[in-house]
Amino acid sequence: MHAPTHTPLMFAFYCHHFVLPLPPEHRFPMDKYRRLYERVRGLEQTGRVRLREPQPATYEDLLRVHCPDYVARMLEGRASEAELRRIGFPWSAAMVERSRRSSGGTIGALSAALEGEGVAVNLAGGTHHAARDRGGGYCVFNDSVVAARHVQARGLADRLLVVDLDVHQGDGTAALCADDPSIHTFSIHAARNYPAVKPPSDLDVALPDGTDDAAYLDALDHHLPRVIAASRPDAVIYLAGADPFEGDRLGFLRLSKAGLLERDRRVLDTCRRHGLPLSISMAGGYAPEVEDIVDIHFATVGAALEHWGSATAARPSRRACDDPASAPAWAETAPTPSIAS
Ligand SMILES: [Zn+2]
Repeated sequence: MHAPTHTPLMFAFYCHHFVLPLPPEHRFPMDKYRRLYERVRGLEQTGRVRLREPQPATYEDLLRVHCPDYVARMLEGRASEAELRRIGFPWSAAMVERSRRSSGGTIGALSAALEGEGVAVNLAGGTHHAARDRGGGYCVFNDSVVAARHVQARGLADRLLVVDLDVHQGDGTAALCADDPSIHTFSIHAARNYPAVKPPSDLDVALPDGTDDAAYLDALDHHLPRVIAASRPDAVIYLAGADPFEGDRLGFLRLSKAGLLERDRRVLDTCRRHGLPLSISMAGGYAPEVEDIVDIHFATVGAALEHWGSATAARPSRRACDDPASAPAWAETAPTPSIAS
């Protein structure tokens, strides 16, 4: 097993082809994932990005985060109507597979970042409303915590920092990590947005309706270096939600596309200054025009790519690649049949 330290490529994990079947009237913009993939595939053709299909999060991965009964109910299709209403998706085997692949994407990206890549992206993920024994808000399994505990179990990192810049507070992540000092949680969100009940993160910054680029970036500049200093992480899991965008249907903030790109660059620059590898997941985005959501996510991927060259040499990684038994999931090359066909 050779660590991909010197290859001039950034890994991007995709799972849009594991389609989550939705009724035609459903409001979730599922097509954004396919469109984002198409744009990133253009980058792959330039030789700068390597697209990877993630392995599904394993049963063991899920059990490090969720209670056995919840995992069994989801895997076996025994979730109650009320549980599924809270998640917002109808149950199907494909929905569960899709959720496991999405978590697998964050596992893959975080593992790659820690193994020497410096930064890698999941073109899905950010399912931060999933808690120990329940899903919610279009989230089934909590990919950030699944990935954090996966890399901890493999000895790739001891301490993780979740930087959650989705417009909605990461209630599931906060609750899951409340008693876990090894995973520090930081959320900047709209005060009045879903969820109504917000279990405390290690640091929550709740912004008023209509917060614009300047005020948002000031808050980020003020808090992020302090959070890093306080938590002393080995790596960062960054949720780059597209829903703080001014046109978002479900968000109360007013960031422009330029402001969101500047947000991404500041997170990346701050991580680089501190020598921190990071994985980036896309999280939410509900603008009426799907192309606006895709523009924002694609700009995040572009910012990560700009950052990549200087980030790779940022710090020596604790690499498990020399041990064939601990080869990372993304190293699998055999194609996996899509359940969507
Ligand atoms: Zn959101």
